[in-house]
Amino acid sequence: MSDPQITRTIAEIRRATADCKGAPMGFVPTMGALHAGHVSLMERARSECKTVVVSIFVNPLQFSPEEDFGGYPRDLEADIVRAGEARADIVFLPSSEELIGDGLLTSVTVAKVSESLCGLQRPGHFTGVATTIVKLFNIVCPDRAYFGEKDWQQLQLVRRLATDLDYPIEIIGVETVREADGLALSSRNRYLSASERETAKRLPLALRTAASMIKAGETGAREVTRSFRKTIATGPGLKLEYFSVCLPDTLEPVDAIQGRTLLAAAVKVGKTRLIDNILVSP
Ligand code: AMP
Repeated sequence: MSDPQITRTIAEIRRATADCKGAPMGFVPTMGALHAGHVSLMERARSECKTVVVSIFVNPLQFSPEEDFGGYPRDLEADIVRAGEARADIVFLPSSEELIGDGLLTSVTVAKVSESLCGLQRPGHFTGVATTIVKLFNIVCPDRAYFGEKDWQQLQLVRRLATDLDYPIEIIGVETVREADGLALSSRNRYLSASERETAKRLPLALRTAASMIKAGETGAREVTRSFRKTIATGPGLKLEYFSVCLPDTLEPVDAIQGRTLLAAAVKVGKTRLIDNILVSP
């Protein structure tokens, strides 16, 4: 393992990536507090690209004032070690001062894809995500960018913006990495107390149970939703924010399940918001 090159300004990352043209450069944008989910993105990029760039930036634009921006886990030293272990070449640590300054007058909104699911619960969130992703794409200019399927809606949004805005960047979705009991890894899992952690596993359980109903022939979204809600209701302190039976690309809800279908959900466990999803083919 060699230490990754650390870059902190736009000028530095531009200089560091200037020599990388001509051979595939892979980019993994993150908000840090890196875990095995992030590592799987970096490893996938490592296996497909000559140069791997990882960014760590807790993006203020995607948090609303009442959300956890201030308390979001930050662990830069451990992150740099993790990135090195995953053999990333360059770590980009932009500052909010340089990237956002006093605020931007320009923003990027991906209509439709950002309006359902988490977009309904978190107004402005996806505009904050899309705006920062566009800025990072313009700065890093990768050939491929890697995003986790755990944040399925974000992945679809990035795919759509890359197509709509003609970025010559291949968007690659990477399978969700889970704990042994099924809970999807997330930086926010650090907020969970021991008893909340125990309750949290009902989210993947409810998704798996709903998915197995579809596999067994159930085609009614209402029935699947009823089953999902029942499993969640038995978890103490688990509050459902949404559950959707929808088309995987557009996220449009479906009543009658036919082809590939996404089951997506958000719950609150205490104060912590968790999201997860599962893709099913009947
Ligand atoms: P974040 O730091 O939470 O913004 O995540 C950075 C990237 O890692 C996003 O593309 C996420 O979808 C991805 N990611 C987060 N958790 C996981 C996971 N458990 N498995 C796979 N990818 C993940």
